[in-house]
Amino acid sequence: MFIELKVVYSEIEAQIIMSHLSDENIDSLIDKDDAGGMHPHLQATQGVSILVKEEDYEKAKEIIEIKDNQTEQSSWTCKKCNEIHQGQFKVCWNCGEER
Ligand SMILES: [Zn+2]
Repeated sequence: MFIELKVVYSEIEAQIIMSHLSDENIDSLIDKDDAGGMHPHLQATQGVSILVKEEDYEKAKEIIEIKDNQTEQSSWTCKKCNEIHQGQFKVCWNCGEER
Protein backbone atom coordinates (compact mmCIF):
# COMPACT_ATOMS: atom_id res chain seq x y z
CA MET A 1 0.00 0.00 0.00
CA PHE A 2 1.02 3.62 -0.50
CA ILE A 3 1.62 6.01 2.36
CA GLU A 4 2.14 9.76 2.39
CA LEU A 5 5.76 10.83 2.09
CA LYS A 6 5.49 14.59 1.86
CA VAL A 7 3.04 17.35 1.08
CA VAL A 8 4.17 20.08 -1.28
CA TYR A 9 2.36 23.12 -2.53
CA SER A 10 2.56 22.72 -6.26
CA GLU A 11 2.28 19.87 -8.69
CA ILE A 12 5.53 20.98 -10.34
CA GLU A 13 7.40 20.59 -7.06
CA ALA A 14 5.79 17.17 -6.61
CA GLN A 15 6.90 16.09 -10.07
CA ILE A 16 10.49 17.16 -9.37
CA ILE A 17 10.52 15.01 -6.24
CA MET A 18 8.91 12.12 -8.11
CA SER A 19 11.63 12.26 -10.74
CA HIS A 20 14.31 12.10 -8.02
CA LEU A 21 12.51 9.07 -6.55
CA SER A 22 12.18 7.33 -9.89
CA ASP A 23 15.94 7.81 -10.43
CA GLU A 24 16.31 5.53 -7.40
CA ASN A 25 13.70 3.08 -8.73
CA ILE A 26 11.08 4.13 -6.20
CA ASP A 27 7.50 4.27 -7.47
CA SER A 28 5.50 7.25 -6.32
CA LEU A 29 2.06 8.68 -6.86
CA ILE A 30 0.62 12.10 -6.30
CA ASP A 31 -2.67 12.64 -4.62
CA LYS A 32 -4.08 16.09 -5.08
CA ASP A 33 -7.33 17.00 -3.55
CA ASP A 34 -8.49 19.39 -6.22
CA ALA A 35 -12.02 18.10 -6.72
CA GLY A 36 -11.20 16.20 -9.88
CA GLY A 37 -9.45 19.08 -11.58
CA MET A 38 -12.49 21.32 -11.49
CA HIS A 39 -10.89 23.70 -9.03
CA PRO A 40 -7.17 23.76 -9.68
CA HIS A 41 -6.74 26.88 -7.52
CA LEU A 42 -7.38 24.69 -4.48
CA GLN A 43 -3.99 23.05 -4.99
CA ALA A 44 -2.36 26.15 -3.63
CA THR A 45 -4.03 25.81 -0.28
CA GLN A 46 -4.44 22.07 0.11
CA GLY A 47 -1.16 20.90 -1.28
CA VAL A 48 -0.21 17.84 -3.23
CA SER A 49 0.57 14.63 -1.37
CA ILE A 50 3.39 12.47 -2.61
CA LEU A 51 2.75 8.82 -1.87
CA VAL A 52 5.25 5.97 -1.87
CA LYS A 53 5.03 2.29 -1.09
CA GLU A 54 5.35 1.53 2.58
CA GLU A 55 8.50 -0.54 2.03
CA ASP A 56 10.14 2.33 0.12
CA TYR A 57 9.25 4.98 2.67
CA GLU A 58 12.52 5.13 4.65
CA LYS A 59 14.65 5.23 1.53
CA ALA A 60 12.41 7.83 -0.11
CA LYS A 61 12.58 9.99 3.00
CA GLU A 62 16.38 9.97 2.87
CA ILE A 63 16.37 10.91 -0.79
CA ILE A 64 14.15 13.92 -0.31
CA GLU A 65 16.11 15.04 2.75
CA ILE A 66 19.32 15.00 0.72
CA LYS A 67 17.62 17.03 -2.00
CA ASP A 68 16.28 19.48 0.56
CA ASN A 69 19.75 20.00 2.01
CA GLN A 70 21.16 20.63 -1.43
CA THR A 71 18.62 23.31 -2.25
CA GLU A 72 19.08 24.96 1.14
CA GLN A 73 22.72 25.79 0.48
CA SER A 74 22.61 29.50 0.95
CA SER A 75 24.67 32.11 -0.81
CA TRP A 76 27.81 33.44 0.89
CA THR A 77 29.94 36.53 0.70
CA CYS A 78 33.70 36.36 0.25
CA LYS A 79 35.37 37.69 3.36
CA LYS A 80 38.25 39.07 1.34
CA CYS A 81 36.63 40.83 -1.62
CA ASN A 82 32.91 40.80 -0.73
CA GLU A 83 31.92 38.97 -3.91
CA ILE A 84 28.61 37.09 -3.45
CA HIS A 85 28.53 33.41 -4.43
CA GLN A 86 25.90 30.69 -4.64
CA GLY A 87 26.05 27.91 -2.06
CA GLN A 88 27.52 25.24 -4.32
CA PHE A 89 30.79 27.17 -4.80
CA LYS A 90 33.50 26.54 -2.25
CA VAL A 91 36.12 29.02 -3.45
CA CYS A 92 35.77 32.63 -4.53
CA TRP A 93 36.12 32.83 -8.32
CA ASN A 94 37.19 36.43 -8.02
CA CYS A 95 40.14 36.25 -5.62
CA GLY A 96 40.54 32.52 -4.82
CA GLU A 97 39.72 32.89 -1.12
CA GLU A 98 38.10 29.78 0.41
CA ARG A 99 34.63 30.04 1.82
ZN1 LIG B 1 36.93 36.91 -3.05
